[in-house]
Amino acid sequence: MNAAAPATSDVFVLECIAAIGDTNVLRDPSDMAGYLTDWRKRYTGQARAVLRPGSTEEVAEIVRIAARHNVAIVPQGGNTGLSGGATPDESGSQAVVSLSRMRAVRAIDPANNTITVEAGCVLADMQRAARESDRLFPLSLAAEGSCTIGGNLSTNAGGTAVLAYGTTRELCLGLEVVTASGEIWSGLRGLRKDNTGYDLRDLFIGAEGTLGIITAAVMKLYPLPAAHMTALAAVDTPHEALKLLEIAQRAAGPLLTGFELMSDFCLSLVGKHFPDMRYPFAERHGQVVLLELSDNESEEHARNLFESLMQTAFDEGVVQDAVVAQNLTESRAFWNLREHIPLAQAEEGLNIKHDIAVPISRIGHFIDETAVLIAAAAPGSRMVVFGHLGDGNLHYNVQTPEGGDPRAFLKTYQTQLNRIVYDNVVAHHGTISAEHGIGKLKVEDNARVKTPVELSLMRALKHALDPHGRMNPGKVIADA
Ligand code: FAD
Repeated sequence: MNAAAPATSDVFVLECIAAIGDTNVLRDPSDMAGYLTDWRKRYTGQARAVLRPGSTEEVAEIVRIAARHNVAIVPQGGNTGLSGGATPDESGSQAVVSLSRMRAVRAIDPANNTITVEAGCVLADMQRAARESDRLFPLSLAAEGSCTIGGNLSTNAGGTAVLAYGTTRELCLGLEVVTASGEIWSGLRGLRKDNTGYDLRDLFIGAEGTLGIITAAVMKLYPLPAAHMTALAAVDTPHEALKLLEIAQRAAGPLLTGFELMSDFCLSLVGKHFPDMRYPFAERHGQVVLLELSDNESEEHARNLFESLMQTAFDEGVVQDAVVAQNLTESRAFWNLREHIPLAQAEEGLNIKHDIAVPISRIGHFIDETAVLIAAAAPGSRMVVFGHLGDGNLHYNVQTPEGGDPRAFLKTYQTQLNRIVYDNVVAHHGTISAEHGIGKLKVEDNARVKTPVELSLMRALKHALDPHGRMNPGKVIADA
């Protein structure tokens, strides 16, 4: 609700009001508050105004107005990002551009297996629209009820189905973008092949709003699977989990759509803070793997496949115990265990988070080595290790020692532990941000781990596309 907006003599604001209407230019602090703090409540900024354009032409118009008045722009979708990329700085001089009014599904082309949507379309709405056309839009993550496809593209979001369908980048065929100078690039092509020079689309994906504003996209659709089947398997160590991954991929190939690792400590935190969520096995095990198959034939086919691959895993001594969901409710309960880990962790108290990836073959060694280094640096730290093992992506988090003061722990150890984790990630040829992006949070760490050549190429791109540095300054690369 737009409270009575304060009268203003700010010419920038007045021109924005003329362009997109008074009710879409928020200036009252209570109206703006929800746009100025990030989801994790780590950053709170100030803004000159929050602008809510309703069309691509309106986005272009306000970008041109901002250029004339030299106002920096912070694009925002659902504000669920985990790296502070959508929060303005504290100067009060930047304008937040929220795409939340641009949520239309422009077209679905079932024969071409594509959907064309505006950037502010909420991911869950897009999945629903695809389903209504008997198609699957496979991007799926716990924030899907509020995150937008523009934000997903800008952070190149991953989620739970990357193993089979790839990241948001791999699901995108075409983009419409408002450039930093306020021109509209209409690249909404639904083509699987297009070799006509530099790939402009890929530049804007994962750019976190630092190169332009994505206003619409053409995304790939897939046939709706006939059945989903979920199972949990108990293994001793991450090394055994990797052996299970190999067995599952050999047996199921592209039908294996999910492979998530959960350490026993993660599940004990879930049990502690959500006592209704039952540990799925009679005895505790070092690790639990959640597997999902998406089958194009039938539930029976999926069940047979699961039973045979689990039998192989038992025969090879990889798996200690396993349970296959018998119905949707059980399947949901398995996924709930996985999705409640971050929530249980938050209940347990502040912690140090890392969203890293290393080549899948290195994961076991990475976990073993880094745990030793962290135990030596900060004795008693509790490791919360879970994530998308099938993609080589771990949420590798460090919780305060039992009974410790989380704030004091973070103050003393955060920088040191980040360095230990990131140095070991680099030693294993990995990345310090697998799916959450750089935002504000990791600007310095990124500058430390990227090579000088990478950084200078990134700066050259930023200068070429945003020569005046108005698009989301201070995010991704600080000194561009
Ligand atoms: P915002 O948070 O609004 O913005 C994110 C970044 O994109 C900012 O830099 C912003 O400036 C930029 N941006 C937004 N829209 C545009 C646009 N139209 N044009 C240009 N730039 C734009 N992420 C994963 O990858 N995998 C997960 O499994 C996952 N799980 C999550 C679970 C929870 C509970 C939460 C809260 C978050 C999770 N995330 C996950 C992170 C988050 O949901 C994603 O980063 C999501 O893609 C952000 O979308 P958004 O619309 O909220 O973007």
